[in-house]
Amino acid sequence: MAEALHVVCPHCDAINRVPAGKLGAGGKCGKCGQPLITGRPINLTRNNFTRHVGRSDLPLVVDFWAPWCGPCKMMAPIFEQAAARLQPRVRLGKVNTEQQQALAAQFGIRSIPTLVLFKEGREAARQAGAMDLQSLVGWVEKNL
Ligand code: ZN
Repeated sequence: MAEALHVVCPHCDAINRVPAGKLGAGGKCGKCGQPLITGRPINLTRNNFTRHVGRSDLPLVVDFWAPWCGPCKMMAPIFEQAAARLQPRVRLGKVNTEQQQALAAQFGIRSIPTLVLFKEGREAARQAGAMDLQSLVGWVEKNL
């Protein structure tokens, strides 16, 4: 029997039910018609954060960053590559802590970049400091 997963659309934030086996097959959002899996990090704000963390069955890795942070900028292309490699099993998202100070405060982000892995709506792991691609993918897979 095919297991259905809840997947939040990265474009319109609608909640879609997708058979687990079809996640990677280019499924489209039932509401806006755009691809559910983009292979790219999702931009998270206080308007969509709760929904993406709490209503999706996919683990979510969030990069808390800021435009003025050198190590964050260095890690940005690595995070993009990790998204391409880890999706559709895992979702990746970014929180700009300069624009989203309430989210940064809510999760007690003291240094950036900080990566937080959420599973079933709860924080499962946290890692502060920039990582290379291999370390980043390895850290995510170890904590899944
Ligand atoms: Zn959509």
